[in-house]
Amino acid sequence: MRIILLGPPGSGKGTQAQLLVQRYGILQLSTGEMLRAAVAAGTPVGLKAKEIMAGGGLVPDDVVVGIISDRIDQPDARNGFILDGFPRTVPQAEALDELLKQKHLKLDAVIELRVNESALLNRVETRVAQMRERGEEVRVDDTPEVLTKRLASYRSQTEPLIHYYSERRKLSTIDGMMAIDEVTRAIHRQLLALGAVEPKTHSRSAAKTAPAKKARAAKKSAKKPAKAAKKAVKSAKAAKKAAKKAVKGSKPATKTATKTATKKTAKKAAKTTARKAVKKGAKKTAKKVTKKRAKR
Ligand code: AMP
Repeated sequence: MRIILLGPPGSGKGTQAQLLVQRYGILQLSTGEMLRAAVAAGTPVGLKAKEIMAGGGLVPDDVVVGIISDRIDQPDARNGFILDGFPRTVPQAEALDELLKQKHLKLDAVIELRVNESALLNRVETRVAQMRERGEEVRVDDTPEVLTKRLASYRSQTEPLIHYYSERRKLSTIDGMMAIDEVTRAIHRQLLALGAVEPKTHSRSAAKTAPAKKARAAKKSAKKPAKAAKKAVKSAKAAKKAAKKAVKGSKPATKTATKTATKKTAKKAAKTTARKAVKKGAKKTAKKVTKKRAKR
């Protein structure tokens, strides 16, 4: 699955991306994170990006497109990814379309987190306070002044992507003002509706119905030995009948002896058949149950 999370700074893209990573086991590709790592490592890309990022501007398109192209090629991205903070401009979106086309990959959805702008400043201030409390390093661009600039560049350069993806029927808009888990649920529902995720493997309701399924399977397999026993009784009766027939057809001198002997043999045979059938039924069931457990 390949999805894009779209939204202004502070809309919860990063938080949702992390939750989706846990849920679907795919990669989060955040260009902001990659650029911060490059700045920290002092790489040529980092040196280029440092001042721009600190000022709340956008790093040149070719730089971020290059980073994303390389990252998508890594083996761990094969299962899918969530793009967080990329694309941020129309030329980046066009470059991404081209990249995916070349790599024969499909984009499943673009999820826009729509938020009330007046709440964004509050959110970022809360995030900064919490990071300080935990003793974490605070981002240099998480200040009210820089946030205002980042919001301005979102409006002028990133917002046109809403139209871009809506025209291509890829856009799903979700109310980003809801509680974190409600937003996650809404995203999941949307991905289900688009067929981007399997209902059984990922939904919570599927997890809830799993024990019920187990119980049904156990009941079914419990019935099987009973069925086998019934079959055995049937074949025992048939054997008895056959024995009677055989006795009828035998000569008078040996009639009684043959009758007793045949009756005994038939009874024994019937018992053995019954025992075998029960054993076979039980064995089969045990095998099936072991197989099912191994699959799980
Ligand atoms: P973020 O962590 O997504 O808020 O990004 C932090 C900063 O990294 C942004 O303010 C930009 O300066 C830069 N950046 C991240 N992603 C991109 C991108 N796709 N295009 C240009 N600049 C980016």
